Amino acid sequence: MNWVAGDADGRFADRRAGRSATRRALGGPAAIWALHAGGKRGGQLSDRSSTAVLPADRSSTAVLPADRSSTAVLPADEDADGMRAAVLTGGRLVVRDMRQPVPGPGQLLLRVRLAGVCATDLAAPAAGIPDGTVLGHELVGDVVDVGPGVAAGGLLGIGRRVVALPVQSCGACVACLGGDPVHCPMARIVGTGPGATGAFAELTVVSRHAALPVPEAVPDEVAVLAEPLAAALRAVRRAGVGTADRVLVLGAGAIGLGAAAWARAVGARDVVVSDPLPMRRSLALGCGASAAIDPSPGGTAVAYRALGRKRPTVVVDCSGAEEALCGGIDLLGRGGRLVVAHLHTEPVRLGLRSAHFKELTVTFSAWYEVDDFARTLEALSSGSLPVAGVVTDVIALDELPDAFVSLRRPTSQGKVAVDPRR
Ligand SMILES: [Zn+2]
Ligand SMILES: [Zn+2]
Repeated sequence: MNWVAGDADGRFADRRAGRSATRRALGGPAAIWALHAGGKRGGQLSDRSSTAVLPADRSSTAVLPADRSSTAVLPADEDADGMRAAVLTGGRLVVRDMRQPVPGPGQLLLRVRLAGVCATDLAAPAAGIPDGTVLGHELVGDVVDVGPGVAAGGLLGIGRRVVALPVQSCGACVACLGGDPVHCPMARIVGTGPGATGAFAELTVVSRHAALPVPEAVPDEVAVLAEPLAAALRAVRRAGVGTADRVLVLGAGAIGLGAAAWARAVGARDVVVSDPLPMRRSLALGCGASAAIDPSPGGTAVAYRALGRKRPTVVVDCSGAEEALCGGIDLLGRGGRLVVAHLHTEPVRLGLRSAHFKELTVTFSAWYEVDDFARTLEALSSGSLPVAGVVTDVIALDELPDAFVSLRRPTSQGKVAVDPRR
């Protein structure tokens, strides 16, 4: 995922949730963060409660249950229902006991095996995500319970290892039935507000229709990358990368590394990755890039030209850096394609003169569908995505608060994943 809640684009908004009859005295009202449902100019959201019912003019009667984990400290005499979680508190993470989430209709309760730490998580305090939130939206876990209406057996039944789109949605609307639950009008993104407990916890809840079983051949350290890899696939698809393309990927975070791996997997003629951090450049080479360049000395365009290669036909921006974006536009040839897969939270100044005369196609990529996850798992299972080295560190939940601070500085680590069972 590559957004920051509460960003300037307003795709998420803070909404005060009313206390529902099903919420048993769990503390004060919770703010939930919910997805822009589309059709509202500027992405503004209307208020609705955490137990919101679909508006009366919709045919479905689906109801999204409240996430009843809340953020209340667990009373000592109820520890049977408790779990440990890293809770956003005053801009930092604090590991403490809290109530377990309860799977509602159409939902799965997962025991988290691994949760990836994403730049979006690190940016959460600055983005205004409220205290009490359990972050974490990249996950692999085991189904340990199911909500009403969900079969306890089968491929997504109890005991199955799954990955999931980090979303709780209605399961009944056109978007949900079409495999696009993040665009459900009821969607709540897991790990972005107290209304939907994230994966930096022993347990979390996702929608069954957003979950997929993990093939046996895919280890946890690779399966936990399903979310950024699905985002990368989406970007590569939106750019229409094919066998004739020379691809330049800007930025070698998890999505950039995934974009390189996918570009190679679909047979692109050349794949070059640009990133200022040596560790990330080395990971990029392991993910299928034929070259990895350092933009720091003289800029992205200078570093690319020094390779002596032909111009890229596709640039995938996973950097969020204005300089990189300008360099990519400069490098693209006539008819080239630019896909912006990173959320730019600040305005960028782009010289568009050359883009105009080169008649570039510019597109954006922000999300993913169930099919992107399915293709990702298929590719991971068949070994066609060489991403085994991307997760460089697995840490315990107790180590996460320190990592949450240290990872904000340039680091020699790749993807860090949390194992809440430790
Ligand atoms: Zn992410
Ligand atoms: Zn829906």
